[in-house]
Amino acid sequence: QCAVPAPVMAEAAVRARVPPDEDGDECLPQYRHLLSPDLLAGQVAFITGGGSGIGFRIAEIFMRHGCRTVIASRNLQRVSEASKKLVAATGQQCLPLSIDVRQPQTIAAAVDEALKEFQRIDILINGAAGNFLCPASALSFNAFKTVIDIDTMGTFNTSKVLFEKYFRDHGGVIVNITATLSYRGQALQVHAGAAKAAIDAMTRHLAVEWGPNNIRVNSLAPGPITGTEGFRRLGGKFAEKSELFSVIPLQRAGNKTEIAHSTLYLASPLSSYVTGTTLVVDGGSWLTSPNSFSALLGIASSSAK
Ligand code: NAP
Repeated sequence: QCAVPAPVMAEAAVRARVPPDEDGDECLPQYRHLLSPDLLAGQVAFITGGGSGIGFRIAEIFMRHGCRTVIASRNLQRVSEASKKLVAATGQQCLPLSIDVRQPQTIAAAVDEALKEFQRIDILINGAAGNFLCPASALSFNAFKTVIDIDTMGTFNTSKVLFEKYFRDHGGVIVNITATLSYRGQALQVHAGAAKAAIDAMTRHLAVEWGPNNIRVNSLAPGPITGTEGFRRLGGKFAEKSELFSVIPLQRAGNKTEIAHSTLYLASPLSSYVTGTTLVVDGGSWLTSPNSFSALLGIASSSAK
């Protein structure tokens, strides 16, 4: 006879299937490959926002599958430190570069440097973004514009530079990291929701126009992901304490390794016939999570403290 109650056993089994993650911007102390370690062997990925959070873990998981990486964001010190950790953990090459995705000339210079170093770029991950909780009525014109500039313009700028300098002639894969915020008009998120919805549209437009150049373009929309700046700023700890995650169909927030695994799928030949789509990686969260202005205002004020 089984002494352990069925729900406890089910919980343990589910937990065992969740790949481990580390909270801060640290590499995983150990990693068990679910896919072939040479899935991305010989390839090079250019990852904006690769020095922190989700972008950092994407860089790590790609490198653990044989990929060399370029990690690029504004803060050179941050990407340089991240690069040292990534190289030490994976033994692959990682080039840290400073760019501001709002300034195409900085992207062009970085892509030139990356091509000089590696002679190729196969994958572009557009991960750079900025976000915060704010009701539309309190959002300044400039704050709205800044988020559109970084997220939407930044994704277009980087994709176009990569297209012109390499992908047009050699093909490539683009994965845009977006969000589910616009699907139900998430309260306090008009700026990021509008910016990410525009990127999902861009994904389809560019997939159509650049498909003949052998370029696949997809979006990946994460739900709430632990151990990230986004999670902290958007009230993740408050949501954890108030058990808001129990309303998510999978009953929990996701982790960075899970996002990196799904990005690996979209970036690799495993998805060779997939383009122009958005892969939602949120445990079903957008279907059931609360969207109440007053509850989220409580989260905004508690996470600002
Ligand atoms: P994060 O660590 O803050 O990542 C954002 C990155 O973007 C940083 O590395 C930042 O580096 C870079 N960045 C910001 N502005 C830039 C600019 N103008 N030019 C170049 N780089 C810039 O946050 P995260 O939570 O991991 O988010 C990563 C991605 O996932 C974002 O696209 C976010 O919208 C998306 N997402 C996250 C969640 C979540 O729960 N965390 C949920 C849904 C979607 P610098 O400061 O050095 O520039």
